[in-house]
Amino acid sequence: FAVTIVATLAVYQLTQGIYPYSTKSVQEAVWLTQEYLALISVVSVGLAILMREINNQRRALEEKEYALRMHNSTLESHVHERTLLLEKANNALHEANIQLAHIASVDELTGIANRQHFRSEAQRELNRLKQDNQTASMILIDLDYFKRVNDTYGHGAGDFVLKSIAEPIRQSLRPKDLLGRMGGEEFFILLTETNVNSAANIAERIRQALESLELHYDGNMIKITESLGVAELNKHENWSNLEDLEYLTSRADQALYSAKEHGRN
Ligand code: GH3
Ligand code: MG
Ligand code: MG
Repeated sequence: FAVTIVATLAVYQLTQGIYPYSTKSVQEAVWLTQEYLALISVVSVGLAILMREINNQRRALEEKEYALRMHNSTLESHVHERTLLLEKANNALHEANIQLAHIASVDELTGIANRQHFRSEAQRELNRLKQDNQTASMILIDLDYFKRVNDTYGHGAGDFVLKSIAEPIRQSLRPKDLLGRMGGEEFFILLTETNVNSAANIAERIRQALESLELHYDGNMIKITESLGVAELNKHENWSNLEDLEYLTSRADQALYSAKEHGRN
């Protein structure tokens, strides 16, 4: 289009006798104009081809960029979906872990702490009390003639008794005291910041509470008693380099043994 305009102008000016060449004849001016127009045409065609090529390439690039952007947004939405799924799975795992930790720390029959959990909690509590120069006491409980309950009323009745005494024992304690089932018909209690006299009072309270229970199972009324042993760890005499929990337990166990020896209940 530009070449057409230039050519028209040139021809028009030529016919008007206007030409800038320092030529002698009109023929030479026409000849030079033709050469000039031919040159412009060739250069213009070259430029046009080049521009078309550049345009094509730019369009191709734009298409690729668009495709990339689409791909990117698809990827992003996939990543978002996966992240949500992962978060859900993580939450479920967290819940399952909490449940697992609970299952691992609780005695299935009675619902109180099992031996392992009681021991680790008690040891931690003793370490804390030791640092604060505090006193701790322990009560060991062992049901009297429990084998007879099983033998007389059956194992189910024995289980029922074990289940039934956990709550009355718990009610005799403060929230911060630790209660655990050590297995069989034995229960341990760690009383924090409590001396042996207070612990003995609590033990007596538990003894009375369990003695007064009337446990009905399968048409039978079952009565139980238990023996208890109490011991204290305090900053003056007992905190030792021995394993504190073992030391305290063995002394409470001696007291329990003595209670059994001296008539139980
Ligand atoms: P003592 O007064 O000397 O403690 O006599 P005991 O019969 O209580 O003691 P012994 O150690 O001879 O017997 C304990 C019984 O506890 C034996 C076992 O059958 C019973 N026992 C232990 N664990 C369970 C349990 O989970 N369920 C039931 N039903 N019985 C259990
Ligand atoms: Mg026993
Ligand atoms: Mg017993």
